[in-house]
Amino acid sequence: MKNLAITKFNCTAEYSTSDIEKDIPGEQLERLREEITALFSKYGFEYQYGETHFLNKQKYSICNCDKCGHYMIDRATNPAGLNLNDDIQIIIFDGALLNGKLLCEECLPLGHRWSTA
Ligand SMILES: [Zn+2]
Repeated sequence: MKNLAITKFNCTAEYSTSDIEKDIPGEQLERLREEITALFSKYGFEYQYGETHFLNKQKYSICNCDKCGHYMIDRATNPAGLNLNDDIQIIIFDGALLNGKLLCEECLPLGHRWSTA
Protein backbone atom coordinates (compact mmCIF):
# COMPACT_ATOMS: atom_id res chain seq x y z
CA MET A 1 0.00 0.00 0.00
CA LYS A 2 1.30 3.45 -0.95
CA ASN A 3 0.95 6.51 1.27
CA LEU A 4 1.19 10.07 0.04
CA ALA A 5 3.42 12.33 2.14
CA ILE A 6 2.44 16.00 1.92
CA THR A 7 4.97 18.31 3.54
CA LYS A 8 4.70 22.07 3.94
CA PHE A 9 7.57 24.49 4.38
CA ASN A 10 7.12 28.15 5.25
CA CYS A 11 9.76 30.81 4.86
CA THR A 12 9.82 34.58 5.09
CA ALA A 13 11.82 37.48 3.70
CA GLU A 14 11.39 41.22 4.01
CA TYR A 15 11.37 43.46 0.94
CA SER A 16 11.00 47.20 0.59
CA THR A 17 8.16 48.59 -1.50
CA SER A 18 10.83 49.69 -3.99
CA ASP A 19 12.11 46.09 -4.26
CA ILE A 20 8.57 44.88 -4.93
CA GLU A 21 8.04 47.55 -7.60
CA LYS A 22 11.20 46.30 -9.32
CA ASP A 23 9.94 42.68 -9.03
CA ILE A 24 13.06 41.64 -7.15
CA PRO A 25 11.02 39.17 -5.05
CA GLY A 26 9.56 37.58 -8.16
CA GLU A 27 12.97 37.01 -9.69
CA GLN A 28 14.39 35.62 -6.44
CA LEU A 29 11.36 33.40 -5.86
CA GLU A 30 11.67 31.91 -9.33
CA ARG A 31 15.33 31.03 -8.71
CA LEU A 32 14.43 29.66 -5.26
CA ARG A 33 11.63 27.55 -6.76
CA GLU A 34 14.05 26.06 -9.31
CA GLU A 35 16.56 25.16 -6.60
CA ILE A 36 13.88 23.78 -4.26
CA THR A 37 12.48 21.64 -7.07
CA ALA A 38 15.92 20.11 -7.64
CA LEU A 39 16.49 19.63 -3.89
CA PHE A 40 13.06 18.05 -3.36
CA SER A 41 13.71 15.69 -6.24
CA LYS A 42 17.00 14.60 -4.62
CA TYR A 43 14.97 13.34 -1.64
CA GLY A 44 12.20 11.77 -3.71
CA PHE A 45 9.72 14.62 -3.34
CA GLU A 46 7.98 16.38 -6.21
CA TYR A 47 7.47 20.13 -5.94
CA GLN A 48 3.71 20.77 -6.14
CA TYR A 49 2.75 24.25 -5.16
CA GLY A 50 3.91 27.48 -3.56
CA GLU A 51 2.38 30.87 -2.99
CA THR A 52 3.63 34.19 -1.69
CA HIS A 53 1.74 36.79 0.30
CA PHE A 54 3.01 40.34 0.65
CA LEU A 55 1.83 41.98 3.87
CA ASN A 56 2.59 45.65 4.52
CA LYS A 57 4.13 45.54 8.00
CA GLN A 58 3.19 49.10 8.86
CA LYS A 59 -0.37 48.84 7.59
CA TYR A 60 -1.09 45.69 9.58
CA SER A 61 1.09 46.55 12.61
CA ILE A 62 3.30 43.53 12.05
CA CYS A 63 6.40 43.60 14.22
CA ASN A 64 8.65 41.23 16.12
CA CYS A 65 8.13 40.15 19.70
CA ASP A 66 10.64 41.89 21.95
CA LYS A 67 11.16 38.67 23.92
CA CYS A 68 11.31 35.83 21.38
CA GLY A 69 11.51 37.65 18.03
CA HIS A 70 8.51 35.87 16.51
CA TYR A 71 6.46 37.91 14.03
CA MET A 72 3.32 39.29 15.65
CA ILE A 73 0.49 41.76 15.11
CA ASP A 74 0.22 44.48 17.71
CA ARG A 75 -3.51 44.13 18.31
CA ALA A 76 -3.63 47.44 20.18
CA THR A 77 -2.85 49.31 16.95
CA ASN A 78 -4.56 46.78 14.66
CA PRO A 79 -7.60 45.58 16.62
CA ALA A 80 -9.11 43.96 13.52
CA GLY A 81 -6.01 41.82 13.07
CA LEU A 82 -5.69 39.86 9.87
CA ASN A 83 -7.97 37.27 8.40
CA LEU A 84 -5.18 34.72 8.40
CA ASN A 85 -5.25 31.24 7.04
CA ASP A 86 -3.73 28.50 9.19
CA ASP A 87 -0.37 28.62 7.42
CA ILE A 88 0.10 32.32 8.15
CA GLN A 89 -1.19 32.05 11.73
CA ILE A 90 1.84 29.87 12.39
CA ILE A 91 4.11 32.64 11.11
CA ILE A 92 2.37 35.70 12.59
CA PHE A 93 1.03 35.52 16.14
CA ASP A 94 -1.28 37.95 17.88
CA GLY A 95 0.34 40.16 20.47
CA ALA A 96 0.23 43.45 22.28
CA LEU A 97 2.29 46.14 23.94
CA LEU A 98 2.71 45.43 27.66
CA ASN A 99 4.78 47.62 29.98
CA GLY A 100 6.60 49.15 27.00
CA LYS A 101 7.42 45.80 25.36
CA LEU A 102 5.80 44.22 22.34
CA LEU A 103 4.99 40.63 23.32
CA CYS A 104 3.53 37.88 21.18
CA GLU A 105 0.69 35.63 22.32
CA GLU A 106 3.21 33.06 23.56
CA CYS A 107 5.20 35.57 25.64
CA LEU A 108 2.31 37.55 27.13
CA PRO A 109 1.45 36.59 30.72
CA LEU A 110 -1.32 34.12 31.44
CA GLY A 111 -4.76 35.66 31.24
CA HIS A 112 -3.77 38.60 29.04
CA ARG A 113 -6.40 39.25 26.39
CA TRP A 114 -4.05 38.25 23.56
CA SER A 115 -2.23 35.46 25.37
CA THR A 116 -2.79 31.92 24.12
CA ALA A 117 -2.93 30.67 27.71
ZN1 LIG B 1 7.25 36.15 21.90
